[in-house]
Amino acid sequence: MLETSKKLFERAQQFIPGGVNSPARAFKSVGGTPVFFEKAEGSLLTDVDGKEYIDYVGSWGPMILGHAYEPVIEAVRETAGRSTSFGAPTEVEVKMAELVRQMVPGVDKIRMVNSGTEACMSAIRVARGYTGRDKIIKFEGNYHGHGDSFLINAGSGALTLGQPSSPGVTKGTAQDTLTADFNDLNSVKQLLNEYEGEVAAIIVEPVAGNMGCIPPKKGFLPGLRELCDAHDVVLIFDEVMTGFRIAKGGAQQRYGVTADLVTYGKIIGAGLPVGAFGGRREVMDEVSPVGPVYQAGTLSGNPLAMAAGFALLSELNKNPRHYDELEEKTTYLFSGLKEVFEAHEVAASINRVGSMISVFFTGEEVIDFRTARSTDQRLFKRFFHEMLKNGVYLPPSPFESWFLANSHTELLLDDTIAAADTAIASALS
Ligand code: PLP
Repeated sequence: MLETSKKLFERAQQFIPGGVNSPARAFKSVGGTPVFFEKAEGSLLTDVDGKEYIDYVGSWGPMILGHAYEPVIEAVRETAGRSTSFGAPTEVEVKMAELVRQMVPGVDKIRMVNSGTEACMSAIRVARGYTGRDKIIKFEGNYHGHGDSFLINAGSGALTLGQPSSPGVTKGTAQDTLTADFNDLNSVKQLLNEYEGEVAAIIVEPVAGNMGCIPPKKGFLPGLRELCDAHDVVLIFDEVMTGFRIAKGGAQQRYGVTADLVTYGKIIGAGLPVGAFGGRREVMDEVSPVGPVYQAGTLSGNPLAMAAGFALLSELNKNPRHYDELEEKTTYLFSGLKEVFEAHEVAASINRVGSMISVFFTGEEVIDFRTARSTDQRLFKRFFHEMLKNGVYLPPSPFESWFLANSHTELLLDDTIAAADTAIASALS
């Protein structure tokens, strides 16, 4: 198993740091050799040794209707024949902005960028420009990409100011990032009171996906909205994972809370490198060239990426049944997995929102970073590798959300549940 992947990984490690172009791919959390893939169709991946896997990574989110989705492939082919980039405006950018506006009513204006990281970095710059304040509040266990302002650990004890979590991030930058606890409005209130008049923005994953899937408690998102209004703070929903996934209008629609700014990635580019930030007209009018906040990109709004994203979003917009089906499929998987773990008497807490789902091997209800960390990581590692052996590709970390696609057929879901039954038995033995 993985013979060719092993050889490629050895070659890769000589000239690419850690052999990968993004750290999560290196399998550090689960050990072993990362799988190198050759092709995929629907929810089936084929690795370089010809082995097939049922996919629950979905390129970390974009593949909501499956890999090699024909309308997306056709749009890319057709567009590529007319040039891959102009560095000048194109019609498809206008169509894309109009479509997002239609799908997400709170987004009056939107600016395309090339990744979720860029979207989040730009959104906080705009919030700082708009408010004239420097500090931001983020939540422990949330991830907003690798912008300096986000690579910050919470200060400890009496020290509420942040500390860099990566070399290369300056102490000065860290001082402007404050960290609160997810699902805990009191921790936010305390920071807002302590730093009254200094906080520009609160940025949150409305459904956390980067410490495993953790839903917001009832009242958490409306509470953030109220606090932002009371303290004149810009509320930013990072919908890089949830956007166009947990509902057509993302978390804003699902939870009935409108943010001032929202960031996107993943689905919006259908697997091509795209991110975007958008929101209320008044705030977005800060962005250059209308306003003074500088933000730019040679390849932003790239025609291939726009054509791919437009094809995918159009389908989601036209056929809301996709969301009902995703919900049904994920509920089916949830029930099947729950039964399996109960039968094996394994403490497992399974969280699900729409087509995002995570299994935590813990007896605790998982509501924040602390409870997520209570998961039995060694058991997850063993379970992960047994699933891989049985042809199921899960995210290679206990702290990631699994993503379902509409191409997960009942047969594939049944195969997954059967694989989980075998895998957990081996993992426990
Ligand atoms: N925000 C969230 C919620 C994410 O999940 C991610 C990536 O996983 C990002 C931001 C960063 O996006 P990218 O990897 O495209 O830079």
